[in-house]
Amino acid sequence: MLDILIIGSGGAGLSSALTAQESGATVLVVGKSYPTASQTSMAQGGMNASLGNVTPDSTQAHIDDTIKSAHKLCNRNMVTELCEDAPKSIEWLEKLGVPFDRTAESKVAQRQLGGASSKRACYAQDYTGLKILHTLYDTCLKEGIEMLEEYFLLNLITKDKTVLGATFLDIVTGEVKEIRAKKTIIATGGYAGLYKGFTTNSEGATGDGIASVLRAGGSISDMEFVQFHPTALKSSATLISESARGEGGYLVNGKNERFVDELLPRDVVARAISEQIANGEDVFLDIRHLGEEKLLHLMPQELHLCRLYENVDPITELIPIKPVAHYSMGGIDVNSNLEVTGLKNCYAVGECSNAKIHGANRLGGNSLLEIVSLGRKAGINAVGGDYHRTENQNHNQLQQDQEYIEGLFEEYPYERNFYTIANELGEKFYKQAGIVRDNTQLNNLLNELRVIKADLDNMGIGDKNRTNNTNLVDFLQFQNSLEIGEVLLDSALVRDESRGAHYKEAFPDEDDKLYRVNSIYWIEDEVLQNRLVKVVD
Ligand SMILES: Cc1cc2nc3c(=O)[nH]c(=O)nc-3n(C[C@H](O)[C@H](O)[C@H](O)COP(=O)(O)OP(=O)(O)OC[C@H]3O[C@@H](n4cnc5c(N)ncnc54)[C@H](O)[C@@H]3O)c2cc1C
Repeated sequence: MLDILIIGSGGAGLSSALTAQESGATVLVVGKSYPTASQTSMAQGGMNASLGNVTPDSTQAHIDDTIKSAHKLCNRNMVTELCEDAPKSIEWLEKLGVPFDRTAESKVAQRQLGGASSKRACYAQDYTGLKILHTLYDTCLKEGIEMLEEYFLLNLITKDKTVLGATFLDIVTGEVKEIRAKKTIIATGGYAGLYKGFTTNSEGATGDGIASVLRAGGSISDMEFVQFHPTALKSSATLISESARGEGGYLVNGKNERFVDELLPRDVVARAISEQIANGEDVFLDIRHLGEEKLLHLMPQELHLCRLYENVDPITELIPIKPVAHYSMGGIDVNSNLEVTGLKNCYAVGECSNAKIHGANRLGGNSLLEIVSLGRKAGINAVGGDYHRTENQNHNQLQQDQEYIEGLFEEYPYERNFYTIANELGEKFYKQAGIVRDNTQLNNLLNELRVIKADLDNMGIGDKNRTNNTNLVDFLQFQNSLEIGEVLLDSALVRDESRGAHYKEAFPDEDDKLYRVNSIYWIEDEVLQNRLVKVVD
């Protein structure tokens, strides 16, 4: 039997595949797309490590910045372990061949990102994630790690809360298959794609792995915390990295006034921009003064994106921007070994997980660090950790999922078009569960979403082709996003305070007495349950 099934082929999945195989396990990586299409490839700004190559820095300063940004919702031990491992993670990537930019002394170059007390982010121009992902992928191929692309995770196969593998839709053939393994690592990325049309994420960031854990009886947590990035292009929501401000870019309104310290944490800057926009102002990023030579060297991708998607030339023109959903801090609840709460033989890592590092607001540059550092840890832990045997085999999941998918090919009333609903929901999430939240609006959206969920039988797929059916994939993603959205809204309603990325005008302060807690959700007897658990630090 396969030792380790890794679901997700972004940076977290591939990092764990490499260490798991190195530790002697047989490994299979499965993804719904090709690895090069993962969110990791889109990361621009950099990956944090307190190397102190450009400005003085220390591990303690990295820990302090991360904890400050997390607004007391993180686990100090997890943060410490991550920050201590950061220089080793950079060294590991360098050995694999990641072409980080260099200083004049040939050390790894580092740049400033928001909320950081030093130039700490290691980068490769503004293609950092792409270079990391390609290097990891190349290495996996060289090491002969087996991969299956265009396999869509449907459900975890469980018996007595023990994970035995998972079922997948083979997108190319349309067949539903199962893959069994001793251990499963989920590395399926985040859920900021829920804010469709108002997110830097791709359409596939629908929290599929998180939804699968919820359905299997595991726990997910802190789903109300979604980070809004201050600077996305106004028309397309394409990201312009924080490095633009880190290098000295300004934020100005239509009157050409600067209105916020550009290097404050993302939640503060995003709120300041949102306030300007609410007052009728346009907001721009101004990087003209940095000069053509510097811009071409440090941000070639961003210049290209501005020209392509906003039709502006940042060398001579202001860049129109708006804040949009960017990163999900919440996710699959895991312990310090990265084991999923409530399930055995199952690990989660990367943006799909909540390892209690980012808390209420992730520090820029810490996600690439997390996927590499904890990705490697997940691979090692899954090989070495306890293996819970169960004699009971669950033969029903495959059959259930085959029947379900088959059912979607039958005729249905087609009364409601789920694409229209997904687009509308994206905008509603942005407006009603976005940067500034309000209980009436959250409640209205939650009720609306529950009505949509109850009406799923009136939706379905118009395309009845068995092979390469993207209509089917989109529908499955839509269903996952509804499940995730319900928890996001409910947990946002429960938290009557403001903390990091979660801001309620009616409750503008942090309330440590009541809400220094992780909000945990799970399903029992088909009913969504929740509890608030005091933060362990
Ligand atoms: C535009 C942009 C810029 C960013 N810049 C930075 C930065 O400069 N620094 C930083 O630290 N962070 C940055 N981030 C965040 C960071 O890139 C991500 O958090 C991180 O790369 C996530 O990695 P991951 O491996 O967890 O998930 P991903 O890279 O999203 O990979 C998820 C994988 O899971 C697979 N998958 C998903 N659902 C299924 C399913 N149903 N079945 C099978 N497979 C599935 C996908 O196909 C994919 O292979 C940025 C993010 C974006 C969007």
